Amino acid sequence: MIEITFLGSGGGRFITITQFRSTGGFHIRASRNVYVDPGPGALVRSWRYKLDPRRLDAIFVSHRHVDHCNDLEVMIEAMTGGALKRRGVLIASKSVVYGDETHTPAVSRYHIDVLESVHTPEPGNKISIGDEEMIITPTQHSDPTTIGFRMKTAYGDISYIPDTAYFDELLGWHDGVRVLIAAVTRPRDMGIPYHLSTDDIVMMLKKMDKKPEVLVMSHIGMKMHFANPYKEAKYIEAVTGVKTYVAKEGFKVMIEKDDISVRTLRPARFV
Ligand SMILES: [Zn+2]
Repeated sequence: MIEITFLGSGGGRFITITQFRSTGGFHIRASRNVYVDPGPGALVRSWRYKLDPRRLDAIFVSHRHVDHCNDLEVMIEAMTGGALKRRGVLIASKSVVYGDETHTPAVSRYHIDVLESVHTPEPGNKISIGDEEMIITPTQHSDPTTIGFRMKTAYGDISYIPDTAYFDELLGWHDGVRVLIAAVTRPRDMGIPYHLSTDDIVMMLKKMDKKPEVLVMSHIGMKMHFANPYKEAKYIEAVTGVKTYVAKEGFKVMIEKDDISVRTLRPARFV
């Protein structure tokens, strides 16, 4: 079984600074433990849902925006047992590792040096993580080095489409996956540049030859939050036939050979 646990579902500057929805990204438990987009709160929320960050094997960061990479360094410290042993893999956009014209790198030399390996791949590159293989996928975002992935597993493929505008090439990269996790930031009729809206995802799903079994909407922006993402999910499901969920903190997807089930975990209590 593959388990995906969301430590947040928020995205965009206003949801991030208010924490109306938390912004911790998500955790994949396959043959290895992989953390994806550790935004603000990733460390705290990992513990809240009993996902020991010391047991991570790899961290994937799609791009150098704070809602995706804020907790990266502290998650590396966890993965490396307090930066005391050299272990773990970082797969990240070039902007995360090297910075760009307006951003310093999101990870210090100190943290890079305790990792076993660092990848800043191009779309099409393949990276093995245990029994799984990650194929890096392209985007069109204001951070032009932003990357997504399609993960090949024994239980079928899982795709992550992070912040991006819609473009037709996305279809080929993500067609036929079982679970599609996508940053659907804006509701119907309220699209903005460099991000997907409900209209974009509907168009994309309609154009796919083989639609996903399940879509999980994440990176909920403020406009989406107030438009009611659950209503948008119902609409997407009604017009495309694709089972659609809205991510939230503690939302867990369990992928088995012939079944995909979901549940929402209760936060652990610390006494
Ligand atoms: Zn972004």
